[in-house]
Amino acid sequence: MKKKIKKASRPKKAYRELSARALSLGAVSARVIDAATVVTAEWVLYKCRFGCPGWGGRHSCPPRTPAPSATARMIEDYSVGVLFGGGDNEDIHKIVFPLEREAFLRGFYKAFGFASGPCRLCARCDLDASCRRPWEMRPAMEACGIDVFATARANGYKIETLKSEKECGSYFGLLLVE
Ligand code: SF4
Repeated sequence: MKKKIKKASRPKKAYRELSARALSLGAVSARVIDAATVVTAEWVLYKCRFGCPGWGGRHSCPPRTPAPSATARMIEDYSVGVLFGGGDNEDIHKIVFPLEREAFLRGFYKAFGFASGPCRLCARCDLDASCRRPWEMRPAMEACGIDVFATARANGYKIETLKSEKECGSYFGLLLVE
């Protein structure tokens, strides 16, 4: 049975500063959220498996990523998140690692970030070798079973399904801290 560890409360200012840092790194919006509002679901992986041409194509993608149930248990270890939006998947990948690093250096030793979409830090992802940049590669929220729509909506973001390829999507990243 999992041992319950009492969560220490930090000054809210520290979380707000991380949110501001996400903005200074290029996020178009950022919000401090309760980690309990991050929604996971088994169906999310079915959407990756059936419909996404990137399935299995990168170290950052399923089936190499944690299952939704494992992610749900992992999120229970955190109390706070910074949910941030960016222009596209590449923007989110550029923000998430420096943001996680900064949080770690500020003393948030459990800081962990989730990106959006497949990792494109290298032009080619060699699946016969180990990830070439594991220190900065972070999996997408959806690749780990996070329901991005439900999580964004639970935190006041308007996010809708796209009706045509001409419409711009909404992209999100997430930093979990304690
Ligand atoms: S950092 Fe490079 S090797 Fe690792 S998942 Fe991303 S593209 Fe693949």
